[in-house]
Amino acid sequence: MSGRPRILVTNDDGYSAEGIQVLAEALEDVGEVWVVAPDSEQSAVSHALTMERPLRVRSVGERRYVVDGTPTDCVTLGISKLMNGSPPDVVVSGINRGANMGVDVHYSGTVSAAFEGVILGAPAIAVSQIVGEGMSWDAAGAVARELTDWILDHGLPKDTLLNVNVPLTEPRGLKLTRLGVRRYTEGVLKQKDPRGRTIYWIGGGEPVWERIPGTDFNEVGEGWTSVTPLHLDMTDTAFLEELQAAEPPWVRLNDRA
Ligand code: MN
Repeated sequence: MSGRPRILVTNDDGYSAEGIQVLAEALEDVGEVWVVAPDSEQSAVSHALTMERPLRVRSVGERRYVVDGTPTDCVTLGISKLMNGSPPDVVVSGINRGANMGVDVHYSGTVSAAFEGVILGAPAIAVSQIVGEGMSWDAAGAVARELTDWILDHGLPKDTLLNVNVPLTEPRGLKLTRLGVRRYTEGVLKQKDPRGRTIYWIGGGEPVWERIPGTDFNEVGEGWTSVTPLHLDMTDTAFLEELQAAEPPWVRLNDRA
């Protein structure tokens, strides 16, 4: 690699969130850091792309940009325009305030921003920190630096990112994991507003997870940092082959036309 590697940093908690400041600082040793981040909280926006209005970008320092859009908008603008049209060597998203494990990766703006990097041809990492009393960003910053450095040397397979979750307490070390399974969540609160009308709040309860060894939830719960490789292609290959072998009648619908 000629010159310093170029690193695109983004998040979904917004530019002023503590986690992204820690991440940008941690990665300065590894390469030239470009920060392109949303101007406001964008958690749980998934892979939303803003297409029905223009986007505005504010330059807030050297290689530092704030966008009035989503995490995916930030990566798209960063790669296509702000980084002078040449793609970064790696995209690092985070450090998210809160876990992104199991099915939650589908809601996560943090993980989706990393996937946008993958779609646009850059290897990517998403880093999340479990929050609670006594939390620190230090371990997450250190693991982000170590993994970014490794990826810059080794690359990642096509269409793959690393999803990292750091436990609340000082990690015992790293574990390679797969996505866990959420068992039950008291997800929606039904209440009355001050005028007596019914309102609903999504995301009110504490998640409960299956204790399956080898999953991100389980290992993070036991004090390890989890590293889960995620693939962009969600095709269920096993079931595809099963369907092809079974030849259900609707497979040949086109032949009857
Ligand atoms: Mn977030």
